[in-house]
Amino acid sequence: MRTSTGCWHAPPRPVAVCDGASRIDGEGPRVTVVGAGAIARRADRRYAAYVFDLDGTVHVDGQPTPGALTALAWVHATGARVAFLTNNPLQPGTAYALMLERMGIPATPSDVITSLDALVRYLRAHPPDGPVLLVAEPLVGEVLQGAGWTITTDPNEAAMVVVSWDRGFSYERLLAAFRAVRRGARIVATNPDPFCPTADGGLPDCAAMLAALEACTGARAEAVVGKPSVHMATAILDHLGTPPADTLMVGDRLLTDVGLARTAGMASGLALTGATDPTALEGATVRPDLALTSLLDLIPAGDPLEHP
Ligand SMILES: [Mg+2]
Repeated sequence: MRTSTGCWHAPPRPVAVCDGASRIDGEGPRVTVVGAGAIARRADRRYAAYVFDLDGTVHVDGQPTPGALTALAWVHATGARVAFLTNNPLQPGTAYALMLERMGIPATPSDVITSLDALVRYLRAHPPDGPVLLVAEPLVGEVLQGAGWTITTDPNEAAMVVVSWDRGFSYERLLAAFRAVRRGARIVATNPDPFCPTADGGLPDCAAMLAALEACTGARAEAVVGKPSVHMATAILDHLGTPPADTLMVGDRLLTDVGLARTAGMASGLALTGATDPTALEGATVRPDLALTSLLDLIPAGDPLEHP
């Protein structure tokens, strides 16, 4: 559509209001009622593996959520496999493992999977046919270069644009990406989060940068690899090696954390310790198996290790 100023713009599309993610794999807003059964308030069984979202679930601003340390100690005592999962692309797994260790939760870098790990996996499966241009912070370039890809700032040679949460986002960076996409470069994004919740009101996240690029090019990302995508789900299940039905995903967001569990066939626990208010469950389009007031509700009543 051409406007009175002579500029082209993409036709409008629906806007979804949700709890953190309105897109799955570069497709438009998708709203489906899933998991419509009753929601239990406490687990009634152990699982072979537990996957924990970090922000708002295990910790808030670097402090463990109520009961998190006891619950994680119980999970480890059961012998279950444990992994941590985050859409945040600003830090490597090593940084998150360090933060967990500081809080008293045993973790190694390999226990943490971020959207950058999902990005590398995606690019290995769908490699760019040339250099990659970034709308992203330096860590993304370091990770991709470390995995063997060439980074460029020249839109004429870019075969792919990778979009991520970019606190250095600028018109110049958008222009380069715009030109690359107009010349045929593919678009891949790290995570679908519109904003990252913080104590002071939140920060614009990857979806904001991606929306800018999609708005000016009319193109859509072929994949958004973080939660709740199948790429992130596959990454975590391959890492754990446990049956999805015997794996519990615990997170504080319905569409990303519970959505990922649904994507992967995992059981899901919504931790009411972060971004989601209990009232959001009324009429929610994505429903968890469990709604946990704290992570202590992961411990079944009467479990032999209930009072370690
Ligand atoms: Mg979270």
